[in-house]
Amino acid sequence: MARDVEDASFDDLPLSERAREAVHRLGWRAPTPIQRLAIPQLAMGRDVIGRAETGSGKTAAFGLVLADQVKAPGLQALVLAPTRELVVQIARDLNALAEGAPFRAVPVYGGVPYDEQLKALADPQTTCVVATTGRLLDLLARKQVLLDRVRFVVLDEADRMLDLGFLPEVERVLKLIPGGRQTALFTATMPKKVALLAHQYMAHPREMEVGPQTPETAEHYRVDVASPHKLPALVALLQKERPPRCLVFVRTRDGAARLAADLVREGVLATPLHGDLTQAQRERIVANLREGRDALVVATDVAARGLDFPAITHVVNYDVPEEAEQYVHRAGRTARAGREGRVFTLVTENDGAHAEAAQRAAKRKLEPYPLRFSSAQGDLVDTAKTPVTPAKVERAGGNARGARRKNKPTPPKAASQRVDPEEEAADTSPSKEFDLPPSRRERRQ
Ligand code: AMP
Repeated sequence: MARDVEDASFDDLPLSERAREAVHRLGWRAPTPIQRLAIPQLAMGRDVIGRAETGSGKTAAFGLVLADQVKAPGLQALVLAPTRELVVQIARDLNALAEGAPFRAVPVYGGVPYDEQLKALADPQTTCVVATTGRLLDLLARKQVLLDRVRFVVLDEADRMLDLGFLPEVERVLKLIPGGRQTALFTATMPKKVALLAHQYMAHPREMEVGPQTPETAEHYRVDVASPHKLPALVALLQKERPPRCLVFVRTRDGAARLAADLVREGVLATPLHGDLTQAQRERIVANLREGRDALVVATDVAARGLDFPAITHVVNYDVPEEAEQYVHRAGRTARAGREGRVFTLVTENDGAHAEAAQRAAKRKLEPYPLRFSSAQGDLVDTAKTPVTPAKVERAGGNARGARRKNKPTPPKAASQRVDPEEEAADTSPSKEFDLPPSRRERRQ
């Protein structure tokens, strides 16, 4: 977490004593940037546009204020979110934050029987509905829920809701809510359609943006390796670190599928996460990671967007991020909220400029991480001793920036290469013991 945030305190925010106790019970020491910015504005009754991602603490940014504002029974707050998983998670988080307040959030989403949701909606103690638009409209059409006393509306992950084609449904819901309400909109990006929605349905919103933060508590390493040795280097790295929850980032969807298959061939269970998968499939993969059924996911940046990953212990940039911001996004998946985490970047002869951008983004030197392993040809590779010579930059179409703009992916070169465990054991790199379960590789043996 950023240093200025560490210095901030929940005591400085306009929250009730009850709310302070709730965050204390959750073990939170300091508000996140979006909480610091949004809570005072929301507490003053203003409309707010928060540019913040999942993982930024945005649920509590509106949840703490909602729980403080709701003082009587009856449905008065509505949160719209794009997926049922998010709906369930937001409702659960809100109820934890509202402990001790006359506030109860219920999740409303499709694909499940109506009974339980109807019972919860009929209960006057229910003060907040957290819903996907489809089931909500369904219940509205049957007059099983009324929004005429709703005073607070939150549009969560607005960009994703609109990406999924829910704009007409969101608008239909908003038109049913009386004027004079307070509206908060959270979104990771601000495409035109989100800006238009905000313009049309919000009153003089205060806009605030928090970029993803390079986690202060993460350790950042680089592994210098010639491109043909990337796969055995990764396998050696995984053997050494034995990460309980690891995200490996690659540039392309083909690259994700190929690398996951290569890892499986090497005896490491890996699941690819890429844009060819449906939202439901992607969320299942994240749930498996959260519940410990999977330990390693190979993802593209696009596929990882908007998903709520659990506490990730290791992020590996198998393909160097092309932009500093991308590095921050990837690294921000680990070491959240003061936890530990490690970020590794494989740097090849082709990656000089991008590696520098990664270093700038990390705001510190990427510590060289030495690895020893056998190449496919059986040669011993010692990344501490084998310098990686930068390849000549192609000038044909301009400079390195030009090459990046063309955005030509260089798929990882896959080769079936083996790690020599003895050499691995002799390795003296700065590995630190995490309290880890046995690796998948060991479990399979
Ligand atoms: P969100 O972006 O709302 O999905 O929150 C991401 C995660 O951060 C959730 O697991 C929250 O419980 C956690 N969280 C939110 N605010 C804080 C905070 N101020 N300190 C520590 N953890 C937090």
